[in-house]
Amino acid sequence: MKRMVILGAGESGVGAAILAKVKGYDVFVSDMGAIKPHYAVLLDQHGISCESGKHTAELILNADEVVKSPGIPDSAPMVKALIEQGTPIISEIEFAARYTNAKMICITGSNGKTTTTSLIYDMLRRAGLDVGLAGNIGNSLALQVAQQDHAYYVIELSSFQLDNMYDFRADIAILLNITPDHLDRYNYEFQNYIDAKMRITRNQRDEDALIYWSGDPVLDREIAKLRPTATLYPFGDRPTPPIPHREGENNQPVANVAYVEKGKMVVKAFEPIELPVELLSLKGKHNQYNSMAAAITAQLLHIKNDVIRESLTQFEGVEHRLQYVATVRGVRWINDSKATNVNSCWYALEAMTTPTVLILGGKDKGNDYSEIDELVKQKCHTLVFMGLHNEKLVEHFSALGYRPAESGAECGGDKRYIDTHTLADAVQACYDAAHDGDTVLLSPCCASFDLFKSYEDRGEQFMKAVREI
Ligand code: ADP
Repeated sequence: MKRMVILGAGESGVGAAILAKVKGYDVFVSDMGAIKPHYAVLLDQHGISCESGKHTAELILNADEVVKSPGIPDSAPMVKALIEQGTPIISEIEFAARYTNAKMICITGSNGKTTTTSLIYDMLRRAGLDVGLAGNIGNSLALQVAQQDHAYYVIELSSFQLDNMYDFRADIAILLNITPDHLDRYNYEFQNYIDAKMRITRNQRDEDALIYWSGDPVLDREIAKLRPTATLYPFGDRPTPPIPHREGENNQPVANVAYVEKGKMVVKAFEPIELPVELLSLKGKHNQYNSMAAAITAQLLHIKNDVIRESLTQFEGVEHRLQYVATVRGVRWINDSKATNVNSCWYALEAMTTPTVLILGGKDKGNDYSEIDELVKQKCHTLVFMGLHNEKLVEHFSALGYRPAESGAECGGDKRYIDTHTLADAVQACYDAAHDGDTVLLSPCCASFDLFKSYEDRGEQFMKAVREI
């Protein structure tokens, strides 16, 4: 009997454990932290042995194969030991995919994954397809494969999941964009992170599809360099003339199959569809990209244009992404807590149409804030820093001309920043600084773990505080 050890007893680990058990492995689950009660119950129900609060070497190093939670870095001592002795380490998605023949629609990118994944899922459901939602979002793929397999899966893939994927093949892969993120997990080398993202194209054949944003400098360069085998379906800001095929290349449609022209989004991977941009339910330029990627996917799956149109115009969006909270004394408050990197904040600022008070800060992942300098200068009269350590923000935005203001001070037209260390102080500072007609935007550029449990927790607490003002 093969021994499968699962490191990390969260959603993906517990799903992988149950699938491994069903498939006849000798399974052991180990988690350095506490195991949530409902997961402990599930493991118990399936007769799976586990440990929490420790990793016991004798019970782990004898594994034939290991499924590692994406949250555990390769630098963790037990993972290092496994790598050293040559034990194969895979991700839950890699493992689960061995046991299903479903069509795999996989979405990755630095930003927009959850939004695009949810939108595609919405389209497939509206079309009446038998579809499961998996990956970073929704239930674990392995659990669904073990208990209720589907014909299609829409899977959100992080770079951490892709790191441990080897034989997996995506029928449809979507690369939304690549900008620096998670550099702390990639040796502070942007290229390492890019390489992880590009793994989504691994094993694809020419009958598979690779949908990507042509216009993203990193993606354009990588695709020219790697020449993926899959058929390419680029989308972008505008129509592009077809590029002549180069000798030895597949017959690839290299012109944008989706773009915006004269205020209309055009998608023509199949029967063309045109839709005025203002009718898209998801607002902002970034969401035009997400909508194009989703619509191309749906067309490739032969979903009717009427259904695609319905989804694009009615989809309600996902919480904590440019989510409207309330208007208080003429000031609109927006929760974009999911903006955990600088690029997503850029798109949030880009979508702002009024003077803005921006809340940013948290756990810095090696950020370079200069990317948002121009938009900050154009749109933000006040910056409210909210984190345990705001020194880097203070330094960067002081150099941009922002001056300290006491919380509660009248800010006038000047460029001010306010240094806060709790959510209550940050919200109060915004309340004092914002004028009738302004927007207060929580779009922190940073992870939440210094002051909050998660970005959801940050967003929930923010919305509660705003409603209680
Ligand atoms: P992810 O799952 O990749 O983190 P989300 O869909 O949760 O992405 O969106 C996170 C944030 O990124 C949003 O708050 C939004 O401001 C920004 N965003 C969404 N889509 C895009 C995109 N295509 N390009 C850049 N930024 C985006």
